[in-house]
Amino acid sequence: MTAALPHSIDDRLHVLKTRWANYLAEGRFEHFIEFTVAVNSLAEHLNRMRLPGLVRVCEGLENAALARLGQDDSHPLGEQDTTALQRQLDTLLGAVASAKPHVPDRERRVESPAAPEIDWIKPRTVWLISAPGQQELVQALGHQLRYFGFQTMELPWGGVHPEGDRPLAVLFVPAPDGLQPAGLQFVTDIRASCPASQLFYLGVASAIEPIVELMRAGIDVAIPAEEQHARVLDRILDLVQNIEQEKYRVLVVEDSRVAVALIQRTLAEHGIDSHAIRDPGTLFDVLESYRPDLVLMDMFMPRFNGVEATRVLRQMSAYSTLPIVYLSGATDVGMQVEALRLGGDQFLTKPFNPVLLAAVVKTKIERFRETQRSTRLDGLTGLLNHTAAKSRLAGLVQQFGSPGASTEAGTQGALTVAMIDIDHFKAINDTYGHPVGDQVIRALAWLLKGRLRASDLIGRYGGEEFLIALPGVSLEQAVTVIDRIRADFAALPHAHPGGALRATFSAGVATFPMFDAAASLTEAADGALLHAKRLGRNRVEAAALAAHLHSVA
Ligand code: GH3
Ligand code: MG
Ligand code: MG
Ligand code: MG
Repeated sequence: MTAALPHSIDDRLHVLKTRWANYLAEGRFEHFIEFTVAVNSLAEHLNRMRLPGLVRVCEGLENAALARLGQDDSHPLGEQDTTALQRQLDTLLGAVASAKPHVPDRERRVESPAAPEIDWIKPRTVWLISAPGQQELVQALGHQLRYFGFQTMELPWGGVHPEGDRPLAVLFVPAPDGLQPAGLQFVTDIRASCPASQLFYLGVASAIEPIVELMRAGIDVAIPAEEQHARVLDRILDLVQNIEQEKYRVLVVEDSRVAVALIQRTLAEHGIDSHAIRDPGTLFDVLESYRPDLVLMDMFMPRFNGVEATRVLRQMSAYSTLPIVYLSGATDVGMQVEALRLGGDQFLTKPFNPVLLAAVVKTKIERFRETQRSTRLDGLTGLLNHTAAKSRLAGLVQQFGSPGASTEAGTQGALTVAMIDIDHFKAINDTYGHPVGDQVIRALAWLLKGRLRASDLIGRYGGEEFLIALPGVSLEQAVTVIDRIRADFAALPHAHPGGALRATFSAGVATFPMFDAAASLTEAADGALLHAKRLGRNRVEAAALAAHLHSVA
């Protein structure tokens, strides 16, 4: 049976409940594995949707199930274990139900082509809970949050909290005199009533004990007193960004059709994309075009074996750290050790346990992406850095230039690029100092993240220069969008020791296919940017128009 893969949280809950019912009815090991896989896939989905509270509850159930996985002969489980799991499942279902925002049907039906998978409209409310004497800080935070489009609700410490929709985040700003037991109980109560919200605690002492106590009470992020509060804003803005995360990609090198089908089914259940080849002879071409995050390598294949293919890969610097996991029927320990010594990362035996396979694949990929991340992201803003932004743009241009791209849903063949540069930035540095300049750069990064879609490319191209690419957006639409951001940025106050300053930016916009290569797009956008600067700054210019004016002049 190849039923459609579950998409929404509701679909996934349905699968979960059905599989649990199947297990209760028949008590078989395979049903238990299927149930565990469904729990894991729900946790994964919640994580992608950035609902950390629900992820925690779901992972609790997953751990409880994994602890009882055992072997064939451990099932059916005894009554005590079944009841314990049932209780955790009920807790999860209750948490999802209470966290789900009440959205009128009318709004729910709004189609969003940019985000076809969204079945959960995120709240944009933040509760600010402050102890007496902290109002000033809370008001400043509230002001900034509202500026970025959040609704805030200020609540007194220890008081009752409102019924109805739960907030995206709760910020606790306690009295400076340290953690009291009553304070912990208060946090625990809020955690229980807001299972899906992200809980922040500002101003904790930098020591293990109080932070552990807060985490046990349900705090997700404890921010030490001496850390900048700007970090809070960063993290909250991060929550509303849907993870830009591309799907995990696994290349399966395997000559058995049956094994390929089983592996791909397991990976798909976990939301992992995969591509299979039967002959390692084509490995290099596929690596280049598919760019996998991990290779699942069969041991015995015609022509070359898995160890030989791995050894060749490890000779090339581009693939020297790519995770490689062997999958083989061999149970000979000596051979497994040899295979690992020659460049593999892990060895799994066939027939494989799907839970284990998915767990190994995901943890390896997470770690791999994490190390990739630090080389791709800019430290000040968290945006793509110059090199990463350029290569992502090249990828987008290639995708839009390939035959058939224009028929892809939603893309409509257009790809618009913008170059943004802050005006008279040197003067800001000279007048207010470098740290204030940094803050202005970060504020613009936040604004761009908050206003653009998860599928858009946003990079820090240079010091105070940003590169943007908007797939499926025409030149006119892009000018409108960027100009709105320009107006908002110009109105945004930036705090400095003597008050607040205002900054502006100029932008140049160019579109594909009028300019049909990454280099000519950025060049044209740069030219339009220069034109915008010449025309007096704080404005957006389109490349076509600028080029036309040049030819007239
Ligand atoms: P224009 O309106 O023509 O763009 O003028 P401008 O002053 O913004 O342009 P210019 O390129 O002359 O100055 C950019 C300045 O940005 C120079 C550099 O010291 C500063 N800068 C570059 N990177 C950073 C950074 O990371 N932080 C801070 N605070 N300043 C930076
Ligand atoms: Mg084989
Ligand atoms: Mg500048
Ligand atoms: Mg510049």
